[in-house]
Amino acid sequence: MSEPKILLLGAPGAGKGTQSSNITDHYDVEHVTTGDALRANKDMQTEHGTPREYMDAGELVPDPVVNEIVEAALGDADGFVLDGYPRNLSQAEYLSDIADLDLVALLDVSKEELVDRLTGRRMDPETGDIYHTEFNMPDEEEVRDRLVQRDDDTEETVRERLRVFEENTQPVIDHYEETGDLVRIDGEQTPDEVWSDLKAEIEDAA
Ligand code: ADP
Ligand code: ADP
Repeated sequence: MSEPKILLLGAPGAGKGTQSSNITDHYDVEHVTTGDALRANKDMQTEHGTPREYMDAGELVPDPVVNEIVEAALGDADGFVLDGYPRNLSQAEYLSDIADLDLVALLDVSKEELVDRLTGRRMDPETGDIYHTEFNMPDEEEVRDRLVQRDDDTEETVRERLRVFEENTQPVIDHYEETGDLVRIDGEQTPDEVWSDLKAEIEDAA
C-alpha cells in the first residue's frame, strides 16, 4: 500500500506521536494531529473561547473546533496517520462521514506507565521530536539543553487527562472493538518493538 489511511488510538502517553513519526518517515503520508494543531493555535479566539483554556486544564477542546481542523487536514491528504482524534463518540461519528480508514490500531499501555511517560516527556521545540528524561534523551548536548516540557505534562493535569480519556475516549475504543476494526498493539514494549508490530499491521492491511 503506498498511501495508507491509519488511525492511531491510545491514551495520552501511549506513544502515538513517537510512532506517528515512524509512520511518516516510512510511508508517504501526512501526520494529522489535533494536539499539535491546537498547540500552534492555543490563543486563537473561537466562539467557544481559546484552546488554551481547555488544554491547560486537561479538558477536551469543543468538538466544532477540532472537527474543523481535522476535516481541513484530511481533505488535502491522500494517505495519513491520524493521532489524537477522535477523542469522543461524537468525533468518531464525524470522522466516519469524512474518511475511510485502512487500519485502526490501539497502542495498549497501563495507567501507571502512562503517568511516568507523560511527566518525563520532553519536546524539542525546533524539530518537534519527542524525548523522555529516563527512557530516551538526545545524544547532542545542544539538543538536550533546548528541550522543553509541555504546559499540560504536570502530574495534576496528567491525571485529569487520563480521567477524561477513560470517560470520553475509552468508549471510542470500545466502539471500534465492537465493529471488529480494532487491532491491539502491546505499547509497553520498546519503541522499536512497538514499531515492528505496527508496521506489520500496516503491511497486513494493504
Ligand atoms: P497527548 O499526546 O498527551 O494525548 P495531545 O497532544 O493529543 O495529548 O492533546 C493535548 C490536548 O489538546 C488535550 O488534552 C486536549 O485538551 C486537546 N485535544 C487534542 N486533541 C483533541 C480532540 N480530538 N478533541 C478535543 N481536544 C483535543
Ligand atoms: P502520545 O502521543 O500518545 O501522548 P508520545 O509519543 O508523546 O505519546 O510518548 C509519551 C512519552 O513516552 C514520551 O516521552 C516518549 O519519549 C515516551 N515513549 C514513547 N513510546 C515509548 C515506549 N515504547 N517505551 C517507553 N517510553 C516511550
